[in-house]
Amino acid sequence: MKNNTPKKVLVIDDERDIRDGCERILTRLDLEVLTAQNGQSGLDILSKEDICIVICDIKMPGMDGIEVLAQIQALYPSVIVIMITGFSTVENAIEAMKKGAYDFISKPFTPDQLRIVVKRALETLHLTEEAYLLKIERQRNLADLQTEQSRIRTIIETLPNGVLVTNISGEVVLMNQVSQQYLGKSQEHCLGKNIETCITDKGLCDYIREISACSPASGKEMHSYELILPEQRFILAQGRPVTGEDNECMGAVVTLSDITALKVFDRLKSEFVAKVSHELRSPLSIIHEQLAMVLKEKNGDQPDNNQYILGRAKEKTKTLISLIGDLLDISKIEAGKTKQEAIEVHVDDLIKKIIEFVHSQAQQKDQSILLNVTDKKIPPLIADPVALESIFGNLITNAIKYTPDGGKIWVDIDTLTDKKKTDIRVKIKDNGFGIEEKHLSKIFEKFYRIKDDNTRFINGTGLGLPIVKSLIDSMGGQILVESTAGKGSQFTVLLPAEQR
Ligand code: ADP
Repeated sequence: MKNNTPKKVLVIDDERDIRDGCERILTRLDLEVLTAQNGQSGLDILSKEDICIVICDIKMPGMDGIEVLAQIQALYPSVIVIMITGFSTVENAIEAMKKGAYDFISKPFTPDQLRIVVKRALETLHLTEEAYLLKIERQRNLADLQTEQSRIRTIIETLPNGVLVTNISGEVVLMNQVSQQYLGKSQEHCLGKNIETCITDKGLCDYIREISACSPASGKEMHSYELILPEQRFILAQGRPVTGEDNECMGAVVTLSDITALKVFDRLKSEFVAKVSHELRSPLSIIHEQLAMVLKEKNGDQPDNNQYILGRAKEKTKTLISLIGDLLDISKIEAGKTKQEAIEVHVDDLIKKIIEFVHSQAQQKDQSILLNVTDKKIPPLIADPVALESIFGNLITNAIKYTPDGGKIWVDIDTLTDKKKTDIRVKIKDNGFGIEEKHLSKIFEKFYRIKDDNTRFINGTGLGLPIVKSLIDSMGGQILVESTAGKGSQFTVLLPAEQR
């Protein structure tokens, strides 16, 4: 709106002297003056030029000043119109003012009189402009404020945690989507109501009320409250008092976070520690007792017996060492730290070597291991050979352990191809004790061991199959088990072959 170009004034009068006089006087006020000798040509100029003040004679041939004023009022309402009236024609002046003229000046007038009335009009124009600018500014501020508010609202609504705001009397002022979902109540149901209307858990209500009132306890290190929802869902509420500029209490902001996963993790960790401690304690107490017995014998009165007891203690320490080894393996696999350099491995060759290695164990039990590579060419795997040894070593050793003397073990290797990929399939089958249906889903759990008449005296940690499964999972493969108690078991491993 504001610029430095001179404001334009239009003088409409049929008397040339008046037009020229006005032009001369007003040009000196830094105004650009245009002139017209009748109403119509004045209106033509108005339609083309940005005129802000019109000085118009009332008495003119053709269209008179009052008519010109009416047209200006209708078409250019912001233009200021000053009427020039003839000598002592006050009635005309009054009529013009009633019809919306800004002011009037009577003929004959002095330059000063004209200057005064035009300056006043300019002043009014200036004030109108200022008011207009202020209005625009206010509207912009309001628009900014609204945008800011809706932005904050959107952020609060899309937070992954619940947010609940209460005032000092414990009434709900705001609650976002997530908190409505956790508390099972809609915003409409809760807004402006006491917290008790919205939350059924008394403990949580007391917690929020305490913080809303900024009671001394809530000022301490932020404490929290745990809410248990149906289906064992755990929500952690953490609140803070809200204080104003003068530190006056205004209410509370409470965040609600779902900590169910953390709780489950915590429980599993405790169970794991309990199981490990249990597994370590029994062999250690046996070793302790056996050593105590040897010491009681006073320097080996019965050396043979001592030898036997020490032998058993040694056996138990071996179990402990293997348990700790398995535990370390599994914790490494779970921490994702096992990824060795993956290289090209021919599984058939690797399994042949494992069978050679465990051959003596099988021989001691008079068992035979039959390897059968069905496909002529087994594609290589790109994998960590140590992990592969651990998988097949564990499965073949288990087959030996859980098959009675004189039994048989078959290891079949082939490939399984569908449209998308080729898997290498290794089946390890035995005609041993087998596994009852009820145990099948549990044998891949850590420390799960079947203790029945057949297996009671077989040493083990219950960690072999969990290790095998974790390693196969990390390679994108899968393991399946079929078994019939008293007949035998078959473990099938599928590992994706590298596509070439
Ligand atoms: P571990 O052999 O140390 O006990 P595993 O995790 O390797 O632990 O095996 C878990 C359980 O699964 C064993 O205790 C055993 O009862 C059962 N199992 C594993 N392999 C066989 C098999 N080939 N035949 C029968 N039972 C088996």
